[in-house]
Amino acid sequence: MSALSEMYHAIKAETDKAGATLVAVSKTKPVALIQELYALGHRDFGENRVTELLEKKEALPDDINWHFIGHLQRNKVKAIAPFVHLVHAVDSERLLREIDKQGRANERRIPVLLQYHIAAEESKYGLDPDAPGALLETIDFDDLAGVAVRGVMGMATYTDNDEQIAGEFDALAETFRYVGNKYFSGQESFRDISMGMSGDYPIALERGSTLVRVGSLLFGNRN
Ligand SMILES: *Cc1c(COP(=O)(O)O)cnc(C)c1O
Repeated sequence: MSALSEMYHAIKAETDKAGATLVAVSKTKPVALIQELYALGHRDFGENRVTELLEKKEALPDDINWHFIGHLQRNKVKAIAPFVHLVHAVDSERLLREIDKQGRANERRIPVLLQYHIAAEESKYGLDPDAPGALLETIDFDDLAGVAVRGVMGMATYTDNDEQIAGEFDALAETFRYVGNKYFSGQESFRDISMGMSGDYPIALERGSTLVRVGSLLFGNRN
């Protein structure tokens, strides 16, 4: 077995046990490595650049579930709207409305997650978990026929302090419950918490993650 397949099986055993989905983050990595995991039966891959995603999609089988995990610019939504499996990081009404528009144009509901800023580090991305409804109050989701809000996403602080990371993931899980109850009550489709990366996915699985996004631990460090 190659190092990649060995690591894949080890991580996959953990996500399976927790009932979570492993998103293999293949950004910057060659198509050949994606093919190697595809041959093992893996179908969920994550990218954070539209141009790179389109190139890889073109070169690979059609039944891959492409997750868009990074900041998505509004003018790039159209290019991925026909096929994207899940947009992980929606944090503005303007982006949400553009995804809705492109979803309608493609006669589909594009699945999305709302990104919350749970880390201590400064970031211009992510909704404020202390005001979880800020984006939601003004939107009538019955009018958004082109999107399906599936849950929430967040990134913990980059630190060795496991307690801090666990606390941040707990805050995201709490936000998930609050938003689900208040704005999507009774909707089974509101079900996902995307949290956990190479350095912290075991903690995320303990804290209720349903989608972990693992890149460098699988494929090796990025340059
Ligand atoms: C790159 C990236 C990941 C994967 O990070 P690793 O530490 O390499 O596992 C996960 N989520 C997002 C949003 C990313 O941009």
